[in-house]
Amino acid sequence: MSETRWYQYKPQKSKRLQKQWWLLLTVAFFLIYLVISAMAINFQVTSKRQLEMDRTKQVANLNDLMLNQLNEITAQNIPDDFKLINENSYSGTIYPSISYQDIETQVFDRSKQVVFETLTKPVEMNFSGVAEAVDTEFGNRQIYVIRGPIFQKDSNQLLGYYQVVNFMSGFLKWQRKALLTYFLTMPFVLLFFIMLGYGLSKLLFEPVERISKVITAVDEENVQNTLIKEPDKENEFSDIIYHLNHLLQRIAFYIDQQKHFVEDVSHELRTPVAIVEGHLKLLNRWGKDEPEVLDESLKLSLAEIQRMKSLIQEMLDLQRADMAVDQYRDKTTLVYEKTKRIYENFKMLYPDFDIFLDSDLVSEIEAKIYENHYEQILIIFLDNAVKYSRDRKEIQVSLASDNGSVNIAIQDFGEGMSEEDRVKVFSRFYRVDKARARDKGGNGLGLSIAKQLVESYGGTISVESVLDHGSIFRVSLPIMKKIPFESRV
Ligand code: ADP
Repeated sequence: MSETRWYQYKPQKSKRLQKQWWLLLTVAFFLIYLVISAMAINFQVTSKRQLEMDRTKQVANLNDLMLNQLNEITAQNIPDDFKLINENSYSGTIYPSISYQDIETQVFDRSKQVVFETLTKPVEMNFSGVAEAVDTEFGNRQIYVIRGPIFQKDSNQLLGYYQVVNFMSGFLKWQRKALLTYFLTMPFVLLFFIMLGYGLSKLLFEPVERISKVITAVDEENVQNTLIKEPDKENEFSDIIYHLNHLLQRIAFYIDQQKHFVEDVSHELRTPVAIVEGHLKLLNRWGKDEPEVLDESLKLSLAEIQRMKSLIQEMLDLQRADMAVDQYRDKTTLVYEKTKRIYENFKMLYPDFDIFLDSDLVSEIEAKIYENHYEQILIIFLDNAVKYSRDRKEIQVSLASDNGSVNIAIQDFGEGMSEEDRVKVFSRFYRVDKARARDKGGNGLGLSIAKQLVESYGGTISVESVLDHGSIFRVSLPIMKKIPFESRV
């Protein structure tokens, strides 16, 4: 890993990956274009060439057909129609008009003397006596030639020879033009693909850039209102953006919690510190000579210090409650056994209270919670029930279970609370009656510790209460397994 700390890290401006994708996309598009266009041009060239060859064959066939009717081939008895057709000036209707600019004809008699020709450029004739169609060189170009002997139709007697030459000028001209256009447009096509590649790579990396911009700009101050805009359509980035937003919100929540925590703690500590300070000042001034003042102040200061100690312990508990699950992932609690033990302890501790345990459980329940945490939660509720009971000193603990969870309820018949307070009692340092709760030693942290613990184990916590009549606190925790009572020793 690099030695760079997060605050020394400079955001990368090089966009290396985006450039690589740009290059990759451009090259890929261009290669695909080259292959497809080369195939298309090749197909066109082949079919146009084939067309020229077919035309040449057409002329050769017609020539052969007209000449093999003769008895003798001489300059005089070459039919006029034949001449007109080959000179491209035939306008009759007996023969099909096959006047092609590039195709020229030569006719020889039996002694290989030219008797008719439209050829202006000499193309060497090979009197092999066999009909053949060949591609051959002429100057520096490729031409197509069909040549062969002419036999009298009925007697099969050799009359002479013919040669039909296609100079392919039109085709070559077209081919040159096509290739020229192809190569001249190539830079524009390449430019187009460069732009397309750039656009696509930018589009591809746009969410990354968006995320990076937001993450770089986020700090303690603005994290509260910072969210990354989610894409209009769901895609792979939506998940990442969703999780990042969730993370940002959690960070904002923790920062906020941290701020409030420090404010709350300093506020809570201020009172006991001021009280101790007051007593110490009193002692300093009068206490040395007056034993009652000395005794009283020491007693009260010690009580305040005791309160601060428990406050610090509770704050630590609250802090740790958050990490409970990670630390005690595999721990479980036997709910009935544990509840019964705590219930018996409380009965012993508060003999003036009627405490009942009412269990609907048909089997022992192993709940997914660390034993000490379960005990801590139950003690918080029972302590409160004792603390906030009035004349009717009765507490009801009930156990029940449904499919996935075990439900624990602790009911008292004490002072209860108003609806307004009911929704706030799980907040840190919240006390319905500050002065009275302080008298009873309450810091307002017990229920928030219980809530944090229960929720970190995936459970739920709630309260029902009627002012002046009492409250029921309910906790439900996930069940690990059920164990029949009789199978336990
Ligand atoms: P504390 O240490 O002050 O009891 P808690 O977080 O446990 O802190 O409780 C917060 C406040 O909720 C208490 O100050 C009290 O006003 C109220 N409360 C808690 N339990 C009960 C209850 N069983 N009956 C009535 N009020 C209760």
